[in-house]
Amino acid sequence: MAMLLHACCGPCAMYPLELLTGKGESLDLFWYNPNIHPQFEWDRRLANLGLAADHYKIRLIKDDDHCEQEYWESKTYLKEYETRCDMCYDIRMDAVARYASENGYDSFCTTLLVSPYQQHEKIAKIAQDKASKYNVDFEYIDFRPGFRQGQDMARQIGLYRQKFCGCIFSLEESKFRDKIYRSFE
Ligand code: SF4
Repeated sequence: MAMLLHACCGPCAMYPLELLTGKGESLDLFWYNPNIHPQFEWDRRLANLGLAADHYKIRLIKDDDHCEQEYWESKTYLKEYETRCDMCYDIRMDAVARYASENGYDSFCTTLLVSPYQQHEKIAKIAQDKASKYNVDFEYIDFRPGFRQGQDMARQIGLYRQKFCGCIFSLEESKFRDKIYRSFE
Protein backbone atom coordinates (compact mmCIF):
# COMPACT_ATOMS: atom_id res chain seq x y z
CA MET A 1 0.00 0.00 0.00
CA ALA A 2 1.64 3.27 -1.09
CA MET A 3 0.34 6.54 0.25
CA LEU A 4 0.95 10.04 -1.10
CA LEU A 5 1.14 12.41 1.85
CA HIS A 6 0.52 16.05 1.02
CA ALA A 7 2.62 18.25 3.30
CA CYS A 8 2.19 21.95 3.99
CA CYS A 9 5.52 22.41 5.82
CA GLY A 10 8.28 20.59 7.67
CA PRO A 11 7.01 21.00 11.23
CA CYS A 12 3.51 19.73 10.37
CA ALA A 13 5.07 16.76 8.55
CA MET A 14 7.07 15.55 11.56
CA TYR A 15 4.41 13.77 13.60
CA PRO A 16 2.63 12.20 10.60
CA LEU A 17 5.98 10.92 9.32
CA GLU A 18 6.90 9.58 12.76
CA LEU A 19 3.57 7.81 13.02
CA LEU A 20 3.40 6.43 9.48
CA THR A 21 7.01 5.33 9.15
CA GLY A 22 6.70 3.72 12.60
CA LYS A 23 3.87 1.62 11.23
CA GLY A 24 6.00 0.68 8.22
CA GLU A 25 3.72 2.49 5.81
CA SER A 26 5.10 2.97 2.29
CA LEU A 27 4.73 6.62 1.38
CA ASP A 28 6.02 9.62 -0.53
CA LEU A 29 5.68 13.26 0.46
CA PHE A 30 3.96 15.68 -1.88
CA TRP A 31 4.47 19.44 -2.03
CA TYR A 32 1.75 21.58 -3.56
CA ASN A 33 1.10 24.85 -1.72
CA PRO A 34 0.68 27.80 -4.11
CA ASN A 35 -1.14 29.70 -1.36
CA ILE A 36 2.11 30.58 0.40
CA HIS A 37 3.29 34.19 0.28
CA PRO A 38 5.84 35.43 -0.68
CA GLN A 39 8.32 33.42 -2.76
CA PHE A 40 10.90 33.66 0.05
CA GLU A 41 8.49 31.98 2.46
CA TRP A 42 7.50 29.38 -0.12
CA ASP A 43 11.19 28.52 -0.65
CA ARG A 44 11.84 28.42 3.08
CA ARG A 45 8.94 26.07 3.85
CA LEU A 46 9.82 23.78 0.97
CA ALA A 47 13.47 23.65 2.07
CA ASN A 48 12.47 22.74 5.62
CA LEU A 49 10.09 20.08 4.39
CA GLY A 50 13.09 18.70 2.51
CA LEU A 51 14.96 18.49 5.83
CA ALA A 52 12.06 16.59 7.39
CA ALA A 53 11.95 14.24 4.39
CA ASP A 54 15.71 13.64 4.69
CA HIS A 55 15.34 12.96 8.41
CA TYR A 56 12.91 10.13 7.66
CA LYS A 57 14.53 9.15 4.35
CA ILE A 58 11.28 9.77 2.50
CA ARG A 59 11.05 10.89 -1.13
CA LEU A 60 9.68 14.41 -1.61
CA ILE A 61 7.76 15.17 -4.80
CA LYS A 62 7.33 18.82 -5.77
CA ASP A 63 4.41 19.63 -8.06
CA ASP A 64 4.25 23.40 -7.78
CA ASP A 65 6.40 26.24 -9.08
CA HIS A 66 5.05 28.95 -6.86
CA CYS A 67 2.05 29.98 -8.91
CA GLU A 68 0.71 32.15 -6.09
CA GLN A 69 0.12 35.18 -8.28
CA GLU A 70 -1.88 33.22 -10.78
CA TYR A 71 -3.66 31.50 -7.89
CA TRP A 72 -4.95 34.66 -6.29
CA GLU A 73 -5.40 36.68 -9.46
CA SER A 74 -7.93 34.15 -10.63
CA LYS A 75 -10.08 35.27 -7.68
CA THR A 76 -12.28 32.31 -8.36
CA TYR A 77 -12.67 31.90 -4.64
CA LEU A 78 -14.86 34.99 -4.65
CA LYS A 79 -17.24 33.38 -7.09
CA GLU A 80 -17.03 29.68 -6.36
CA TYR A 81 -16.13 29.43 -2.68
CA GLU A 82 -17.57 30.86 0.49
CA THR A 83 -14.18 31.67 1.98
CA ARG A 84 -10.56 31.91 0.91
CA CYS A 85 -9.74 28.84 3.02
CA ASP A 86 -12.38 26.81 1.18
CA MET A 87 -10.53 27.53 -2.05
CA CYS A 88 -7.13 26.95 -0.47
CA TYR A 89 -8.09 23.50 0.82
CA ASP A 90 -9.91 22.61 -2.37
CA ILE A 91 -7.08 23.28 -4.80
CA ARG A 92 -4.50 21.54 -2.63
CA MET A 93 -6.62 18.45 -2.02
CA ASP A 94 -7.49 18.37 -5.71
CA ALA A 95 -3.79 18.40 -6.63
CA VAL A 96 -2.79 15.60 -4.26
CA ALA A 97 -5.74 13.38 -5.17
CA ARG A 98 -5.14 13.87 -8.88
CA TYR A 99 -1.41 13.16 -8.59
CA ALA A 100 -2.03 10.08 -6.45
CA SER A 101 -4.55 8.72 -8.93
CA GLU A 102 -2.43 9.42 -12.00
CA ASN A 103 0.72 7.93 -10.48
CA GLY A 104 -0.50 4.65 -9.05
CA TYR A 105 -0.76 5.44 -5.35
CA ASP A 106 -3.35 3.53 -3.34
CA SER A 107 -4.29 6.43 -1.12
CA PHE A 108 -3.50 9.98 -0.08
CA CYS A 109 -3.63 12.03 3.10
CA THR A 110 -2.48 15.47 4.23
CA THR A 111 -0.45 16.89 7.10
CA LEU A 112 -3.04 19.67 7.33
CA LEU A 113 -4.87 17.17 9.56
CA VAL A 114 -2.25 17.59 12.30
CA SER A 115 -2.98 21.22 13.04
CA PRO A 116 -5.56 22.26 15.66
CA TYR A 117 -5.58 25.65 13.91
CA GLN A 118 -6.94 24.32 10.61
CA GLN A 119 -10.57 23.50 9.78
CA HIS A 120 -10.12 19.79 10.29
CA GLU A 121 -13.60 18.49 9.38
CA LYS A 122 -13.78 20.69 6.30
CA ILE A 123 -10.41 19.45 5.03
CA ALA A 124 -11.46 15.83 5.56
CA LYS A 125 -14.74 16.39 3.72
CA ILE A 126 -13.03 18.07 0.75
CA ALA A 127 -10.39 15.33 0.61
CA GLN A 128 -13.08 12.65 0.60
CA ASP A 129 -14.86 14.43 -2.27
CA LYS A 130 -11.59 14.55 -4.23
CA ALA A 131 -11.00 10.86 -3.57
CA SER A 132 -14.33 10.11 -5.21
CA LYS A 133 -13.57 12.48 -8.09
CA TYR A 134 -10.24 10.80 -8.90
CA ASN A 135 -11.09 7.25 -7.83
CA VAL A 136 -8.35 6.93 -5.23
CA ASP A 137 -8.68 6.33 -1.47
CA PHE A 138 -8.43 9.13 1.05
CA GLU A 139 -6.96 7.67 4.23
CA TYR A 140 -8.36 9.82 6.99
CA ILE A 141 -6.05 10.09 9.98
CA ASP A 142 -6.57 12.49 12.86
CA PHE A 143 -2.97 13.47 13.54
CA ARG A 144 -3.93 16.22 16.02
CA PRO A 145 -3.04 14.29 19.20
CA GLY A 146 0.59 14.43 18.00
CA PHE A 147 0.70 18.13 17.09
CA ARG A 148 2.80 19.21 20.09
CA GLN A 149 5.09 16.21 19.77
CA GLY A 150 5.65 17.06 16.11
CA GLN A 151 6.44 20.69 16.92
CA ASP A 152 8.93 19.57 19.59
CA MET A 153 10.57 17.19 17.15
CA ALA A 154 10.79 19.99 14.56
CA ARG A 155 12.53 22.19 17.13
CA GLN A 156 14.95 19.41 18.01
CA ILE A 157 16.14 19.01 14.43
CA GLY A 158 16.26 22.78 13.89
CA LEU A 159 13.37 23.27 11.49
CA TYR A 160 12.00 26.74 10.78
CA ARG A 161 8.57 27.03 12.44
CA GLN A 162 6.43 29.70 10.81
CA LYS A 163 4.10 32.04 12.66
CA PHE A 164 1.37 32.42 10.05
CA CYS A 165 -0.77 30.04 8.07
CA GLY A 166 0.65 30.85 4.65
CA CYS A 167 -1.31 33.25 2.44
CA ILE A 168 -0.83 37.01 2.35
CA PHE A 169 -4.04 37.56 4.30
CA SER A 170 -2.90 35.35 7.16
CA LEU A 171 0.43 37.18 7.15
CA GLU A 172 -1.28 40.56 7.39
CA GLU A 173 -3.50 39.28 10.22
CA SER A 174 -0.64 37.75 12.22
CA LYS A 175 0.33 39.45 15.47
CA PHE A 176 3.91 38.70 14.39
CA ARG A 177 3.42 40.53 11.06
CA ASP A 178 6.27 43.02 11.46
CA LYS A 179 8.70 40.39 12.68
CA ILE A 180 7.78 38.13 9.78
CA TYR A 181 8.34 40.90 7.24
CA ARG A 182 11.75 41.60 8.79
CA SER A 183 12.64 37.93 8.37
CA PHE A 184 12.21 38.34 4.60
CA GLU A 185 14.93 41.03 4.42
S1 SF4 B 1 -5.53 31.24 6.15
FE1 SF4 B 1 -4.36 29.35 5.64
S2 SF4 B 1 -5.88 27.88 4.89
FE2 SF4 B 1 -6.81 29.92 4.81
S3 SF4 B 1 -6.40 30.71 2.74
FE3 SF4 B 1 -4.74 31.43 4.04
S4 SF4 B 1 -3.11 29.90 3.84
FE4 SF4 B 1 -5.02 28.96 3.09
